[in-house]
Amino acid sequence: MSSKNLCWIRRDLRLHDHYALSQALKNADETFLVFVFDELILTKLKNKKDRRLTFIFDSLKEIESLLNEVGSSLIIKYGDPAKIIPELALELKVDGLYFNRDYEPYAKKRDESVTKTLEKNKISVFSFKDHVFYEKQEVLNGKREIYKVFTPYKNKWLETFRAQESVVPNFNCVLKKMAKFNNPNSINKKNWMNTIGFEEITCVLKGGTTEAMGLLSQFKKHMHNYKEARDIPALNQTSNLSTYIRMGNLSIRDMIRASLEKSNEGASTWLSELIWRDFYQVILDVYPKVETHSFKLEYDQIIWLGSKADFKSWCEGETGYPIVDAAMRCLNETGLMHNRLRMVVASFLTKTLLIDWRLGERYFAEKLLDFDLAANNGGWQWSASTGVDAQPYFRIFNPYNQSEKFDPDGIFIRDWCPELSLFSNKQIHYPHESDMVEQVEAKCFIGSDYPHPIVAYKGQKDKALAMYKAIR
Ligand SMILES: Cc1cc2nc3c(=O)[nH]c(=O)nc-3n(C[C@H](O)[C@H](O)[C@H](O)COP(=O)(O)OP(=O)(O)OC[C@H]3O[C@@H](n4cnc5c(N)ncnc54)[C@H](O)[C@@H]3O)c2cc1C
Repeated sequence: MSSKNLCWIRRDLRLHDHYALSQALKNADETFLVFVFDELILTKLKNKKDRRLTFIFDSLKEIESLLNEVGSSLIIKYGDPAKIIPELALELKVDGLYFNRDYEPYAKKRDESVTKTLEKNKISVFSFKDHVFYEKQEVLNGKREIYKVFTPYKNKWLETFRAQESVVPNFNCVLKKMAKFNNPNSINKKNWMNTIGFEEITCVLKGGTTEAMGLLSQFKKHMHNYKEARDIPALNQTSNLSTYIRMGNLSIRDMIRASLEKSNEGASTWLSELIWRDFYQVILDVYPKVETHSFKLEYDQIIWLGSKADFKSWCEGETGYPIVDAAMRCLNETGLMHNRLRMVVASFLTKTLLIDWRLGERYFAEKLLDFDLAANNGGWQWSASTGVDAQPYFRIFNPYNQSEKFDPDGIFIRDWCPELSLFSNKQIHYPHESDMVEQVEAKCFIGSDYPHPIVAYKGQKDKALAMYKAIR
């Protein structure tokens, strides 16, 4: 009798260098591939034009087309995966279920439940490390504990890497062993998006490995400049690959290999960012409480003084701080935001508007195309000083200085706040300080065409320091 496996893809939407799929194919005569649109996640999404759905949909279409070329197909389901996956495994009479591990609290519970049900039914379950380069137990300090400070973690990560990995593994997937069948429920034919209650929309990034590979090869051409250029949003010199990494259109090993092709400061700085990613995944895995609590629990005692009205202005990009407004409008329009600006707006929300980091984190979670619980939570808690290895609470970004330093000619601001575009390179950072003649020349009246600053930075800084000090 021929042997059959089922491989369940989730945030690893690709058919190359895929650990679980490569092993499923190796260990059976034929392998089925399934993706489940998880109703428990989808029903929580308020926006029925959520860009991430379009991105996932495009990624799945690409996978299905590739499978069709080898006479196979992709199984697509909608519902609760904890029920659907065991039912499907039993229906297909597979020998084993294969998937790559996910470290988010919900995903871990879901996978435990699926594993228990299948094991009761004598179907073996195999899970793999694929989504990170190193898991929690692989990079430990001298006391065999996980690191809570990034720099020593990074040094140990690199030391481990140099000691172990002469070649970064590439988990080859022999697709001719994919199960041969035609799926009448094809994602390419049927309007799946409408069926599950969502609408396809135009998205700034097209999902899929082909697109991701194209972006990666573009980025490789200027990776050597990364260290200098990565902080200037208007230059757009970062890789823009976060959504593809989040959805697994590329493997983390694809990225590590790319970073090792050349030895220069740009490449090693970029590799550091990938190590930050591993770091935050480990933190979420080991401390799932960070999903709702400050990593440093004492910071949960902060009494946030900010107002709902200021939060609304922040969300809408109407704070009267041009760099913040430009960044938030860019997020609302595209689902993306440059890393420097994420730090600026997160610091502004928590330490200038005095609003709980959790509100900002949730807003990002709703809007970001590349939303990743571990990285988002890590980034927010770093900015709010509540996190593991966060910046100290008394380091408060001055939004004006950040604006002048990282968008000196106001190019990014002009792109997203066109009403400010005629102000000079100097005034564009402080339009509210311009006099009436300057406002007439700029064809922009502060208070009607563009808001006055909703709060005064200086006074708020003192309040923030007092607010943080109150819990010490
Ligand atoms: C408040 C805040 C929220 C964030 N939310 C997310 C999020 O939801 N999803 C997300 O992927 N990143 C998040 N980041 C990290 C970072 O801003 C993005 O990864 C980066 O802007 C994506 O652009 P890029 O692909 O061009 O990155 P590049 O600069 O090209 O970096 C390469 C890759 O490294 C990873 N990476 C880079 N910086 C970080 C970091 N600080 N932490 C973890 N991984 C990193 C990403 O996978 C990124 O694609 C957040 C940062 C902050 C400060």
